[in-house]
Amino acid sequence: MAIKQLLKRTSGWLYLNSPVGRNQLHGAGVILMLHRVLANDRAAELPHRNELCVGPKAFEHLLAWLKKHFDCVPLMDILQPGALRSERPKVALTFDDGWRDNALNAFPLLQKYQVPASIFLSTDYIGSRQRFWWESIGETLWGTHGEQPRTHLIECLQHMGRPLPALCDDPDMQRRSLALLHFLQSLKTLSPLDLNHLTDACPQESLPQALDWQQVRTLEASGLVRFGPHGASHAILTGLDDQRLDEELSRSREALRHGCNRPLPVYCYPNGDNDARVREHVANHDFSFALGTGTGIYRGGAEDPMALPRFGVSQRTARNPDLLSWRIYRGARP
Ligand SMILES: [Zn+2]
Repeated sequence: MAIKQLLKRTSGWLYLNSPVGRNQLHGAGVILMLHRVLANDRAAELPHRNELCVGPKAFEHLLAWLKKHFDCVPLMDILQPGALRSERPKVALTFDDGWRDNALNAFPLLQKYQVPASIFLSTDYIGSRQRFWWESIGETLWGTHGEQPRTHLIECLQHMGRPLPALCDDPDMQRRSLALLHFLQSLKTLSPLDLNHLTDACPQESLPQALDWQQVRTLEASGLVRFGPHGASHAILTGLDDQRLDEELSRSREALRHGCNRPLPVYCYPNGDNDARVREHVANHDFSFALGTGTGIYRGGAEDPMALPRFGVSQRTARNPDLLSWRIYRGARP
């Protein structure tokens, strides 16, 4: 292990196990951001999946660690005024997008450890075969669906003036995966139309990527999971004009109202992107809180309720939660 990593892990451990750390976190809340829980830890370890995916063993390890150091509470217990009155710091889990694996792989472990969670749905995807472009394009380029679809997609990319970098064919798996991660990040500048076109060129997976509404209702009925909106189409809200922004907000809110019994009064910005105009529109659609992706701990006072901080969890941090407490320590410093 690199010295730097070791130092981070050691300071992270010290932070949670020292009076200084305990004082700093006293009465505070930490909101964690996850996306997917895959069926397999090795698959989640590859760089192009690491940020958005954790494996079941890593996720279970994280849950056990959280139970040891925090009160694991529903998100609203952290956000509602007067709720921060506990000896131990509080943590709430959030999942973005609404991946099917949240029901298949995450939920059984949430039940086993009795850890509540909130899932934020990109509502157009729920109960449909619509696909998240980074997953379909990423996995097709990774070769998950075979060589022929990969070659076809590479040709489509070439037509769009986005040739696949040579490093994406590197014989070393780690380097190849890292090159793919960087390439996928570079595609974010393509128009939604081009990204849809590329996604359509990818083969269908056997199962839909997203949850369906029956799964949403089953998870909600367990009492352990609540749902909120994460856009309808997952469009980046700051890039929409006023009319399209309001359409996106209304459509996602209505879908949640129809699909759940108790949708959360919390919005979750796709990609975390928000500005003053977006925050105002979201507040005007009756949301009291909204989640961004800036890091920090929640003390129930000074923060802008329409841009609440979260800590992202990757496969790496789920496997080594002391790295997560190191990040919380850094985020908690005044
Ligand atoms: Zn998202």
